Amino acid sequence: MNAEIIAVGSELLLGQIANTNAQFISARLAESGINVYYHSVVGDNEERLLQTITTAGKRSDIVIITGGLGPTKDDLTKETAARHLDCSLSYDKESLEAIEQYYLQTGSEMTENNKKQALVLENSTVFFNFHGMAPGMLKEVHHTKYLLLPGPPREMKPMLVDQVLPYLNHQKAESSSIYSKVMRFFGIGEADLESRIDDILSEQTNPTIAPLAEDGEVTLRITARSKELKEAEALIDQMITVLDDRVGHYCYGYDQNNLLHKITLLLEQKELTIASAESLTGGLFSSEIASVPGASNYLSGGVTVYSNDAKQSVLGVPGDLLGQYGAVSSECAENMAEQVRLKFDSQIGISFTGVAGPGDYNGIPEGTVWIGVSVRGGIVASFKLLLKGDRNFKRIRAVKHGMYGLIQLIEKNTGPFVK
Ligand code: ATP
Ligand code: MG
Repeated sequence: MNAEIIAVGSELLLGQIANTNAQFISARLAESGINVYYHSVVGDNEERLLQTITTAGKRSDIVIITGGLGPTKDDLTKETAARHLDCSLSYDKESLEAIEQYYLQTGSEMTENNKKQALVLENSTVFFNFHGMAPGMLKEVHHTKYLLLPGPPREMKPMLVDQVLPYLNHQKAESSSIYSKVMRFFGIGEADLESRIDDILSEQTNPTIAPLAEDGEVTLRITARSKELKEAEALIDQMITVLDDRVGHYCYGYDQNNLLHKITLLLEQKELTIASAESLTGGLFSSEIASVPGASNYLSGGVTVYSNDAKQSVLGVPGDLLGQYGAVSSECAENMAEQVRLKFDSQIGISFTGVAGPGDYNGIPEGTVWIGVSVRGGIVASFKLLLKGDRNFKRIRAVKHGMYGLIQLIEKNTGPFVK
């Protein structure tokens, strides 16, 4: 199955916004084993959009169009798709009711063009928009699927991930038994991982193995094809055993369970609470944890203590300690973790302190990071990293290392925190 993506919007052509939708959709499709062969961008112009859809329909199995589903005059994706497919538009009852309900509840007047958002291609599969008003839709004509998704990323992403991909995968599984599984790695670079399994990568046809790197995490997607789903699963399991042998040491999880999912799940399951004291990361760790629904079950709280004064006055790190060892030290990291755990009366305290750069700080090289941990009735420990990249990349990486360290500590009582 091959796909192409058409992003609609003059603001994209004018360079006012970047086409991040195409990037996101492509990455998710690649993970699902769907090849993307073309990206196009077209302005809010009916004739040029029609031309683009017509070309795409001839060469791709799935034509994905994002943007232009809204209420305004320049939103003409549905009308143009309907012209191309020679079909009419009709109201989707559920979406229309939700829109009417919205205006009733907010007490504002619903104009006629707002209703337009509930229009869908007739006989299409409709994806309800849980984060906005205009639903997405998929219609298959002459073996080509046309998928229309809203433009705003915060509406498009969950619709794609939670509704469209499961739908497509289900269809795919029924027709050809394609099955895939993702192995997630941390603590090893993409190049290093690939070189260790180079021979396996180049030999494989079924299952195929596709590496992907993102923010320091590396994944391998293993995709098997077979008439029987059971056979495909067996092929994948065999491959995982082979890969485990070589690089299993760095594998921390499977499928959607990234570091954030994994650590929050562990905290929840083990009924642990955590608090963070953050210097370098400026609250990023607690913000990440808080982004997961149910965080209140395990996140006690966090403090950002950037300056040395704040470390002392807010957190209670002794001035002597800061004077003797400095803020970027194992002593400071461990004390921060301990103090924040006590302050919040949580079971775990974690801390981040380091030199984000650019440039060194008091003779300590840029990229030096100390991550500390304190466990109620357990260890107080820390480990050091030397991170490369720009400021924000270092902050993100530090948070991930912290999560990874915690996972190893909680799951197996090993890892960088365990001395
Ligand atoms: P709305 O109901 O908001 O009008 P829509 O489906 O009609 O949604 P557009 O009007 O095309 O979508 O775009 C709305 C906003 O969504 C844009 O202003 C932009 O912020 C964002 N957006 C649209 N397309 C993309 C894209 N390809 N990549 C990133 N952001 C996009
Ligand atoms: Mg719009």
